[in-house]
Amino acid sequence: MTSKNVILVTGGEGLVGSAIKFVLDNGETRTEEEWVFTSSKECDLTKLTDTNKLFEKVKPTHVIHLAAKIGGLYGNLENSLQYFIHDGPPHDSNFGYSYAKRMIDVLNKCYNKTYGDIFTSVVPTNVFGPHDNFNVENGHVLGGLIHKAFCAKRDNTDFVVWGTGSPLRQFLYSRDLARLMIWVLRSYEEIEPIIISVNVEDEISIKEAAEIVVKAIGFKGNVIYDTNKLDGQFRKTASNRKLKTYLPNLKFTQFEDAIKETVDWYMKHFEEARK
Ligand code: GDP
Repeated sequence: MTSKNVILVTGGEGLVGSAIKFVLDNGETRTEEEWVFTSSKECDLTKLTDTNKLFEKVKPTHVIHLAAKIGGLYGNLENSLQYFIHDGPPHDSNFGYSYAKRMIDVLNKCYNKTYGDIFTSVVPTNVFGPHDNFNVENGHVLGGLIHKAFCAKRDNTDFVVWGTGSPLRQFLYSRDLARLMIWVLRSYEEIEPIIISVNVEDEISIKEAAEIVVKAIGFKGNVIYDTNKLDGQFRKTASNRKLKTYLPNLKFTQFEDAIKETVDWYMKHFEEARK
């Protein structure tokens, strides 16, 4: 990067945006960089004039575009149109969502061909962490599980996990993702997407994840698997081979530690957390 870069982060108050802010505030800032975080409260990016105004004001040299419509298993399933539908084969449970993400890569390649822009897309696996949406219907699995386990402990009720618990996921801590997104911004020059995920060997089942949440919350009651709810895709295995080629010594936060930090954050910010 050249001198004085202005980096605009859209979706700046969300799960990943807040994590980027956290990582910068904890030793990653550089004098030649100015970071501007924006959220939907400040600018509605679906309105072109508002978006133009924002860009004229900030004059970014770089953009990390995180603002998006986010749902989780049922949110994606029930609002496929809003996530952008197209004919084709991604799994039914995140059909529109998956295509919208694939189209970003197509768009990046077109921009590069037409204007020479260096846009790339980061493809993370299932993300969780502080500032997540802990809402059970619209949120992601770990946010939902943390909220449900917390309420079950508080109300002395059963802790209900959706599905069989057997699907496998590579959970990625938002603060690990944030560190790597900053690295992508500073050092990754390719247009080709880069997958950010933990190792394939670190894939765990929803049941294992739920047990770790139970431990972190300190819930002692019954754990029920509601098989009337969907399992979704059985696995979404992604390879981090490319990332490891760039960063061979890369280490991720232990899942148990990351869950503990997330639960601690959630308990501390219970009132204002999205849920
Ligand atoms: P999401 O985008 O975080 O919902 O994640 P996926 O769609 O990749 O998968 C979520 C998996 O967790 C599915 O197998 C669900 O059946 C299971 N699950 C168990 N409890 C919950 C919950 O409370 N919320 C969500 N979203 N998923 C749950």
